[in-house]
Amino acid sequence: NTSNPNLHIMFFPFLAYGHIIPTIDMAKLFTTKGVKSTIVTTPLNASLISKAVEKSKPNHHNVIQIQTIEFPCEEAGLPKGCENMDSVPSQDLFITFFKATSLLQKPFEKLLLEQHPHCIVADAFYSWATDSASKFKIPRIVFHGTCFFSLCASECMGLSEPHKNVSSDSDSFLVPRLPGEIKMTKKHVPAFIANKENSREFVELLEDAKEAQAKSYGVVVNSFYELESAYADFYRDEFGRKAWPVGPVSLCNRNTREKANRGKEATIDEFECLKWLDTKKANSVVYVSFGSLINLPDSQLREIALGLEASGQHFIWVVKKDEKGTAKWLPEGFEKRMEGKGLIIRGWAPQMLILEHPAIGAFVTHCGWNSTLEAVAAGVPMITWPIVAEQFCNEKLATEVLEIGVAVEAVKGVRMEGECVGWDALEKALKRGMVGEEAEEMRNKAKVLAWFAKQAVEENGSSYSALNDLIQELASICL
Ligand code: UDP
Repeated sequence: NTSNPNLHIMFFPFLAYGHIIPTIDMAKLFTTKGVKSTIVTTPLNASLISKAVEKSKPNHHNVIQIQTIEFPCEEAGLPKGCENMDSVPSQDLFITFFKATSLLQKPFEKLLLEQHPHCIVADAFYSWATDSASKFKIPRIVFHGTCFFSLCASECMGLSEPHKNVSSDSDSFLVPRLPGEIKMTKKHVPAFIANKENSREFVELLEDAKEAQAKSYGVVVNSFYELESAYADFYRDEFGRKAWPVGPVSLCNRNTREKANRGKEATIDEFECLKWLDTKKANSVVYVSFGSLINLPDSQLREIALGLEASGQHFIWVVKKDEKGTAKWLPEGFEKRMEGKGLIIRGWAPQMLILEHPAIGAFVTHCGWNSTLEAVAAGVPMITWPIVAEQFCNEKLATEVLEIGVAVEAVKGVRMEGECVGWDALEKALKRGMVGEEAEEMRNKAKVLAWFAKQAVEENGSSYSALNDLIQELASICL
């Protein structure tokens, strides 16, 4: 076991749950190795992080330190208290939010001056963090929050721009050099390559991030080698980058309390939720969630409700709504008809606990990387419904490379704005993913991957070793 009580790492996750949650887990992992870990965040996010850290205390020798810096959101043109992507009131303000995070550079550097960490693990979106690190002559490690497959696919598409050879959005093209002869369509091409006029500012932001990454010390990835070995090798060999797959980081949470309180506190009592699942047969419940950010329009929620009902499957469905009483976005009498059959969680679900329950047979997911990997770690196949960004690449990995997912076929992609996926497309995918031979096969494959995931984080497993290697390397250059 590596023990480095002298090494101090400062983690700075992007201000969104999909980045904060795995960073907390990663910081926990480093503390189990005796590294002093500090998470930097803003005041409002700090209270959430400290709760999540608090719940995990008994397992860890070292306490994770939390340092806060002010986020001048009003100065940047955001509403007061808008310190997390999930509180950005409209999509038009997303870019303002992204850009506003550059205002964190100064206070972050002040903190570096005071705290003297040996290394920073900063989010890919904080391009400026590479400069900050070099000012203080310390290594900057990048955390992307995605997988090797999507990183490689995006790099390869950026180099050769294969989408330029096809005319329509639905035409597929082979991604040159990418192992596995992967075919993609225009929806898989990252915004900064597609270079859309309307996303110019975003394009610039991502280009900066790419440049900063090339100058950084290396990349830490929440994935495990056995899951996507061809892409982990390709990433390191072809792009000449140092990369350490240390995941699934969620597996560092061992008890019910820890698992239930990752990120936000769940809206539903975790024991109630598990009790409900206990009444169901193995593999008979589908879990539906679109992550921490996506707010689907009411018309789409209605179609989902109809699709769930038509499929006849039992379900837990997480909806980002906090209203009480009868919901107008549900079909007439839906909740009454679904009593005992379906559970709607309005707000935040204890996702990891739900996925690990044997009653869960499949996960309807937007393919955010954390959700995808959590499904893998729990051995649950996916019904994929990506919405934006690299979620389309993650879907490819799940459905075609790992073969543990079926796609909701009517999902056309991010460029088809305003599109509403009909209930029948969901019903069809639910049937494929939940019952019959194909579902059974996917479940078996998913179970094997879950076994590999657990092995990876156990003593001498690939992720365990990668974490040790990373710590040793940092200790050798920093101490
Ligand atoms: N999550 C959760 N409960 C919810 C919604 C999300 O615990 O109700 C967690 C989920 O387990 C995952 C993270 O939030 O760890 C979402 O990250 P992901 O990359 O899947 O999607 P994003 O929210 O970034 O789009």
